[in-house]
Amino acid sequence: MEAHTEAVEVLGIDAGGTMTDTFFVDAAGDFVVGKAQSNPDDESVALLNSAEDALGLWGTTVEQAFPDMVTAVYSGTAMLNRVVSRKGLDVGLIVNRGMEDVSRMGRAIQSYLGYAYEDRLHLNTHRYDEPLVPRRNTRGVTERIDSKGDVVIPLRDEEVREAARELLEAGVHGLVICLMHSYKNPVHERRVRDLCTEVAREMGRDVTIVASADYYPVRKESHRINTTVLEAYAAEPSRKTLHRISDRLRDHGTHFDLRVMASHGGTIGWKAKELARTLVSGPIGGVIGAKYLGDQLGYKNIACSDIGGTSFDMALITGGDFTIKQDPDMARLVLSLPLVAMDTVGAGAGSFVRLDPYTGGLKLGPDSAGYRVGVCWPDSGLETVTVSDCHLVLGYLNPDNFLGGVVKLDRERAYQAVKEQLADPLKLPVEEAASGVIELLDFELRQYLRSMVSAKGYNPQDFVCFSYGGAGPVHTYGYTEDLGFEDIIVPAFAAGFSAFGCAAAEFEYRYDMSQDISLAPDAGEAERRSAAETLQKGWSELTEKVIEEFRINGFSPSDVQLKPGYRMQYRGQLNDLEIDSPIPKAGSADDWDQLVDAFNEQYGRVYANSARSPELGYSVTGAIMRGVVDTTKPKIPVEPEAGETPPAEAHLGTRRFFRRGRWYDADLYQMETLQAGNRLRGPVVIESPATTFVVPDGFETYLDKHRLFHLRQL
Ligand code: AMP
Ligand code: MG
Repeated sequence: MEAHTEAVEVLGIDAGGTMTDTFFVDAAGDFVVGKAQSNPDDESVALLNSAEDALGLWGTTVEQAFPDMVTAVYSGTAMLNRVVSRKGLDVGLIVNRGMEDVSRMGRAIQSYLGYAYEDRLHLNTHRYDEPLVPRRNTRGVTERIDSKGDVVIPLRDEEVREAARELLEAGVHGLVICLMHSYKNPVHERRVRDLCTEVAREMGRDVTIVASADYYPVRKESHRINTTVLEAYAAEPSRKTLHRISDRLRDHGTHFDLRVMASHGGTIGWKAKELARTLVSGPIGGVIGAKYLGDQLGYKNIACSDIGGTSFDMALITGGDFTIKQDPDMARLVLSLPLVAMDTVGAGAGSFVRLDPYTGGLKLGPDSAGYRVGVCWPDSGLETVTVSDCHLVLGYLNPDNFLGGVVKLDRERAYQAVKEQLADPLKLPVEEAASGVIELLDFELRQYLRSMVSAKGYNPQDFVCFSYGGAGPVHTYGYTEDLGFEDIIVPAFAAGFSAFGCAAAEFEYRYDMSQDISLAPDAGEAERRSAAETLQKGWSELTEKVIEEFRINGFSPSDVQLKPGYRMQYRGQLNDLEIDSPIPKAGSADDWDQLVDAFNEQYGRVYANSARSPELGYSVTGAIMRGVVDTTKPKIPVEPEAGETPPAEAHLGTRRFFRRGRWYDADLYQMETLQAGNRLRGPVVIESPATTFVVPDGFETYLDKHRLFHLRQL
């Protein structure tokens, strides 16, 4: 192997439930991808294994490469899993006296979030989860600020001290403060925060203390409480993980602060105050990667689809942009943090397969084997069949090439398990039972994808579908079949695509705050000016937060490019739109008019020009500030076209492959050895150390000069 000469600069990390992926970019923009089995007990171990795997491809090592690195971006699923499984820290919650049950009651929608449609309809299936903070760890204190931000009842300091003392005596690891209308006027919350800090100090306790106004100054109590609670409940443990990873990176010679992919699609430093913003990070990486590729190669409308071991994640990019949801839900909780709009279902290559005891039919997931793959991995300790076991039985996957052969799988074990658990009870041949599982998964994924695109009023013909994740290319043909996408693209680096997205992401902080500006259609000059000034006041406050976060990471204000935005709606309407501001600062009636014009323009684009309702007047409901600094980005490869026939050395032989009732001798190819311009007609299986691209009979694929495979139905 020739020595790698360029300095390694950027590292993207995706610590998924199944695999930990790394994506390294060098100074010239070239990249390598590594993968290792995840290690939930110590993520840094999996990360270093994965890094060795990647850097080995360049003939270098962690020790040699790390000291040159400029930055690294982490994404992972541990925080989300902690919330989904309700395994966070014990925290105490301080709210208004009389409102102690608000968090426990939650919003009605939380009782059926994540349900199938038929279960949403039936009240008797609805179920409330245990609240994140139990009632016994919740205290009320007397105070009231009204919806205009005026103090109506002063805060009783002594009650606060007592509440803090009691909670700390009960052994909580964090205190969360959430008072009514604090987003309008934070004085009481901040006072409570300071009193809690005092009490904790007196008691010699080092606990996290978070006040909603400092973190998420937005209206809607349940959303705000949930989000602020997550900061102590779920983000603190992740902070420890990140600290450990950061230390390990430094032990190996790095000298920068680790960044983390945040739910709004930018990256933030691991020391960021608002770490709950990284609750969803891995799947976001994939969307950012797709947008980055799309921007460079001219794909404007993209349906992103990612299948790993545990889940199927979908998102839409339309007109070159993804949508941000302001109050999304996650893990059956309503939240108030900006999240790239995505749909996730618990179906992946590691999903368990069982027979429904009532109907006798096949049932997939929702739980999965995670990093333990399936019965086929002798060390897994698993007994229940997974989709991966079926892949092996049918010849989709190569048992000797899982993670390039690091994890040895046993087809015979998979075969026996599928036989006993599925085929025999169903009185089917083993391959028929296994292929029933694959068809069921393909069908379910196809339905999800179709409904996501068409429910938003789009036509798949206007979209390019990107398929990635280790298991994406295994099922691309299956979940896109007959949907009619304009094109279907499988990047050759599909297995590390989310990590690629992390490496391509902007270093960006984003802050939001609620605002209540409302103007009649005939508002005069003074009113319009005052409205512009109010928005500017919000921007200035948020700018300080952005600059402060960058300062923590060693950047000066002049490095930061500021991008203001706002949320606007027609007065009295229920839904607002997020608008990128056409002006850097606001302060005059003329500025206000420009903001209104930008809103009208966007409204016409999202809905229809005829739906515009300027006669209602305008409201600004929120101010947004984003700040970005420059970083090195991966370069999209460009290779010379080598003709349609693949090089002889790419052909690895054949394997028995079963689909739709018959066995084929599928030709096997080595993905990395294929050359730009090569065209392959199914049935072929294209193998790579961390992913497998299955092209069945009736399909063909073409590798373009950017190392993107295009899949076509014949
Ligand atoms: P991910 O969670 O995105 O890393 O995807 C993991 C999944 O990739 C596994 O569950 C496998 O089904 C799939 N996969 C396909 N080919 C391979 C391979 N050669 N090695 C490991 N995983 C693979
Ligand atoms: Mg993944």
